[in-house]
Amino acid sequence: MFTVLLNGKIITPFRRIDRGAVLIENDHIKEFGAMDKVTIPEGSRLIDVGGAFISPGFIDLHLHGAWGGDVMGATTADLLRMAQGVVKGGVTSFLPTTLSGPLPDIVKAVDCIGRAMRMDIHGAKILGAHLEGPYFSLEQKGAQNPLYIINPKPEDYLPLFDKYPFIIRVSAAPELDGALELGQELKRRGIVASIAHSNASYQEVLQAIEHGYTHATHIFSGMSTIKRVDAYRVAGVVESVLVLDELTTEMIADGHHLPPSLMKLVLKTKGIDKVCLVTDSMKAAGLGPGRYELGGLDVLIESAIPEVFEISTQERNYVAKLADRSAFASSVATMDQLVRNMVKHVGLNIVDAVKLVTCNPARMQGIDHERGAIAEGMKADITVFDENVDIHLTMAEGEIVYQND
Ligand SMILES: [Zn+2]
Repeated sequence: MFTVLLNGKIITPFRRIDRGAVLIENDHIKEFGAMDKVTIPEGSRLIDVGGAFISPGFIDLHLHGAWGGDVMGATTADLLRMAQGVVKGGVTSFLPTTLSGPLPDIVKAVDCIGRAMRMDIHGAKILGAHLEGPYFSLEQKGAQNPLYIINPKPEDYLPLFDKYPFIIRVSAAPELDGALELGQELKRRGIVASIAHSNASYQEVLQAIEHGYTHATHIFSGMSTIKRVDAYRVAGVVESVLVLDELTTEMIADGHHLPPSLMKLVLKTKGIDKVCLVTDSMKAAGLGPGRYELGGLDVLIESAIPEVFEISTQERNYVAKLADRSAFASSVATMDQLVRNMVKHVGLNIVDAVKLVTCNPARMQGIDHERGAIAEGMKADITVFDENVDIHLTMAEGEIVYQND
């Protein structure tokens, strides 16, 4: 079965091809290029995208919930809601992410992710599981429930990794007792080890890199920064991530977590290839304002921002805060919003903005051999959107999973 997306501006995202076409055979990309160069087999289904952008499907490596589904809810219905909701934001694959909680609850959530992965879901593809916690620094807990924050112990995590080989990323604070050993174990198993909710110093970050950590979770959120020890300045995780080429990182580009200036700082220091965007969203993403519960904590969804912040207009951009407004409690952003924010508020061109949600996350998660680019033989994960990054069509592995007419 052949499908052809015609008359679009293709962002591969290594180059841009105007008046392009993409030929899809079953679940993969067969051919792409200028419209008059692509062979169109007889009987193909033709879809004219009317000059819109044709980009690889967006990849979200960090989200706790969306569209009413909650990873810690630990039901396949929750994951289905997420998989079928995130496609409206152009997402074609995602990494459901757990929160700090009692270990049995985390196990239940992971087990459920495994069951959902075996289901035939008409939606975005579930890539595996991302454990965010419970191995964190209490000083940098953010919206992670402090009741459940513990140190990593092999007798806890080894059985988990053995039983659930689809755990493909773990976010942890490397300065904890046992966290370097954890990093090495993750590296040995090919699991991405990411520095998160960490109070580490520059020296401790270097040690983390030596023990397998390659990524840093949501830069600026839940991490140490410059502090004074007597007359001396000590660099924290923020500065370490910015300066060390060994580390990649991710930004919550929802228009609340980071002002444009800090997003520019990250892009300028890390370079466009070392950064990806994540929603870090919770179940209210896509649903609108109100009061919700997240990992046992009360959470408020609103769009109010203080005057001192650099962005004043927040159309369509809500955020989740702890009930006392002392910290953000993950976001309610959708992936299309993040891309839009990069163009509108950070001044990126659309091709670079697309890299941050396609080939970059694919490379960081080690799935770039099959996802994250429009190239021959890749999975047909494709998103079609207009100049305003409003999503027109989302295709996951060759199947149209969302269409906005
Ligand atoms: Zn976090």
